[in-house]
Amino acid sequence: MKILRNSAKCLKCGSHICSRHRHDFQRCNCGAIFVDGGLAYLRSGGDLQYYEDTSIVDDTPPSGVHSEQNGERRQHVQPERADDGD
Ligand SMILES: [Zn+2]
Repeated sequence: MKILRNSAKCLKCGSHICSRHRHDFQRCNCGAIFVDGGLAYLRSGGDLQYYEDTSIVDDTPPSGVHSEQNGERRQHVQPERADDGD
């Protein structure tokens, strides 16, 4: 998972806060919520009833970075031998 934006909106005071660096601790205007961690990790807290997550994360698995893999042809695989003794 890659963090593209670490942000949240406070539903109490309406302010939108965004943490841009690992140690960029941001608190909303009324102090109800906060975000921290920037693009290194998602850390947030405060009064969760006023917390609306607006973060953007990329859930693409690391191995699927290249979209070309979507059109990858399956390699022909040898069928398993069916003569396993039972
Ligand atoms: Zn607030």
